[in-house]
Amino acid sequence: MVVVGAGPAGASLALLLARRGLPVDLIDATIRGGRPFRGEGLMPSGLEALAAMGLQPLPPAVAQLPLAAWSFFLDGQFLFEAAEPMGSPVPCTLIDQDSLLQELLVQAGRQPGFRSRQGQAATDLLEQDGRVSGVRLADGSALEADLVVACDGRESLLRRKAGLELEIAPSPLDVLWFRLEAPGSEALVRWLAGRFVTVVGASGSYALFPSARGGVQLGWAMEPGRAAQAPTPASPGAWLELWARDAPAPLARLLRTLAEVAVQGPVRLPVRVGLCPGWQRPGLLLLGDAAHPMSPLRAQGINMALRDALVADRHLGPSLLAGGPAAIDAATAAIAAARLPEIRRIQQLQEEEARRADLLRRRHLLRSLLASTARWSGPLLERRWRATQRELRNGSKAIATDL
Ligand SMILES: Cc1cc2nc3c(=O)[nH]c(=O)nc-3n(C[C@H](O)[C@H](O)[C@H](O)COP(=O)(O)OP(=O)(O)OC[C@H]3O[C@@H](n4cnc5c(N)ncnc54)[C@H](O)[C@@H]3O)c2cc1C
Repeated sequence: MVVVGAGPAGASLALLLARRGLPVDLIDATIRGGRPFRGEGLMPSGLEALAAMGLQPLPPAVAQLPLAAWSFFLDGQFLFEAAEPMGSPVPCTLIDQDSLLQELLVQAGRQPGFRSRQGQAATDLLEQDGRVSGVRLADGSALEADLVVACDGRESLLRRKAGLELEIAPSPLDVLWFRLEAPGSEALVRWLAGRFVTVVGASGSYALFPSARGGVQLGWAMEPGRAAQAPTPASPGAWLELWARDAPAPLARLLRTLAEVAVQGPVRLPVRVGLCPGWQRPGLLLLGDAAHPMSPLRAQGINMALRDALVADRHLGPSLLAGGPAAIDAATAAIAAARLPEIRRIQQLQEEEARRADLLRRRHLLRSLLASTARWSGPLLERRWRATQRELRNGSKAIATDL
């Protein structure tokens, strides 16, 4: 079989199927490593999937940092802090995605049937008698397969080539992404003390957290489309001043004294959220962002991709080993049916959370009221927020029930 895309969905699925002794070709358009802006948050839901793959605890080669708490500030005023693991079996953990993907490829490479082709894009689907029968590669060669799994991300070329429509959901935010690098950001890392900090104020809202590979990641939220048009600060120094304006005093001091050279970015992340109602055609299955591009809110994309791969392996393994095309197509239909309800639910929860955040960003009076009464409004909001996080952290149902 052929897996296209060596992100979290493709790399983990390739490993699982190769472990079964199946021949697996994993194709990726890029040569992995060194991309500075990648998702880092693994929720207990993703860690549960990794555990079922035999990857918990995470191998030491994967740079990792368990999160200590989630802290919220409004107009510079402390609102509340929720300590990890918030009732989950394990804490949310920040990882270096490149090192996780590298580890998956190293483990897959030990399996005799596994072949990785990095730096080679798939450019088209091959078809025979109404069935996808392989992929065409950028060098013009053809790769035949009894099943193609498209894990080629949110802009999936193979999804479009297969004519599988993505239903786009309205996205309430765009994100500008920054890294605050060492040397320079050490004092900021110490102040964060392993926390994911959200700051909402008159200038906008942002979240910052220590990166598992050193330094700090910072995401600045904007109304959709605005990132492209709005005048944004032209220099790193102006960004630091903008963030400092709404920050609590100790954070503001650290931002104002941070060297401009420590600021990397911004990279614009146009948030694309959507869902394919059909994930399969005969001989083809979509997984991960290719089937359901996720909002970056509350770190869901990697986690859902890993859960997709786990469920796909359990359904596909037996039919690829013993069945013919009909059994394979029945398995791909079963995978989509098993995964769609959780993806729908998680996307709905992300949308609700984004709307609440947007309300706070826009409503100056509401913000001032909550900030000035933080002593009693903080604990109330914390209770409500914790309740909304349960499924976003743990998934909407135990993954074992899908298997
Ligand atoms: C800045 C940022 C922060 C994020 N933060 C988080 C977070 O903290 N936690 C979280 O869970 N999620 C986060 N996400 C989302 C998460 O990264 C994605 O949802 C997740 O990576 C999806 O995994 P995937 O394997 O489906 O696709 P991807 O990771 O997008 O991988 C797709 C792969 O396919 C390859 N490819 C594409 N086209 C082709 C082609 N034609 N031929 C061959 N290869 C191809 C690409 O090179 C890529 O390697 C974040 C995303 C961004 C951009």
